[in-house]
Amino acid sequence: MGKPESGLLAGKRVLIMGVADKHSIAWGIAESLHQHGATLAFTFQEEPRGRLERNLRELLSSFGSPADFPRFACDVTDDSTIEAAVSGLNSAWGGLDALVHCVAFADRDDLNRPFSQISRQGYKLALEVSAYSLSAVARAALPLFQQSGGGSIIALTYNAVEKALPGYSAMAAAKAALELGVRYLAAEMGPSRVRVNAISAGPVRTLSASAVKGINALRQWTAEAAPLRDNISARDVGDTAVYLVSDLSRMVTGNTIFVDSGTHVIGAQEAAVLTRAALGS
Ligand code: NAP
Repeated sequence: MGKPESGLLAGKRVLIMGVADKHSIAWGIAESLHQHGATLAFTFQEEPRGRLERNLRELLSSFGSPADFPRFACDVTDDSTIEAAVSGLNSAWGGLDALVHCVAFADRDDLNRPFSQISRQGYKLALEVSAYSLSAVARAALPLFQQSGGGSIIALTYNAVEKALPGYSAMAAAKAALELGVRYLAAEMGPSRVRVNAISAGPVRTLSASAVKGINALRQWTAEAAPLRDNISARDVGDTAVYLVSDLSRMVTGNTIFVDSGTHVIGAQEAAVLTRAALGS
């Protein structure tokens, strides 16, 4: 698949953060944006054996030459690596039209503990990597957006925020802070014509999601009882990202858009009834 030169997103330069492997939601987003003609760059977490960069290079070879896609090592807990990535992007492109934040981490133990038992350190870590990082990268990238006359920032969230979802403890706290950050950043960056929105995705089997106990049950429930009676894929998220990167969403900011097969409209009691019916009990 060569690089498309036309399409809804032709001329849009997009930085995608958080491709770990082919199952990553960030990779589904990359595929959708590429299909619609966007120009892409990536950040990845550097690790001693270079596994993530190798994964990314292999994935990019399906788009054409990996050399055509700027790539920067970036650990969002380290401001100097964020600055280095933005500076590298400035040299490569001299501006930016969209940034996709698909980065999250919580210690597996703190995910699976009851909320009252999350460790102080685990709570801080989840919030720093998964929520504070949005402010850190938005702040660093603002000058690049200003050079482009504005742009779009997209963050990924999960709806364990409005109602308690056992098994998502520390990450639920982080996602609540992330969604709040989306609204505050939308208010602050709007005058620079930078839009900030979140996509709230249904459960997708990825490396990070494998740490969430009960993901298989959630997917089974989604297939059997969610309004659209089907699970979502990373490409479903990617296709919504196409809209948010494009000028079609030019007056849309501060929102959380659900790509969850409609699960968020179902109340807990309704869910219990539907689940029992689906299981025939
Ligand atoms: P994923 O493939 O494991 O992606 C998570 C990414 O975050 C990985 O590339 C990971 O790199 C990166 N990361 C972790 N700590 C980092 C750090 N300090 N600096 C830079 N990068 C770091 O999992 P995913 O499910 O696609 O997650 C993408 C986003 O979607 C996350 O915000 C997640 O919460 C959200 N989401 C996922 C689901 C789902 O069901 N999968 C549902 C709703 C929302 P390493 O591999 O090196 O740690």
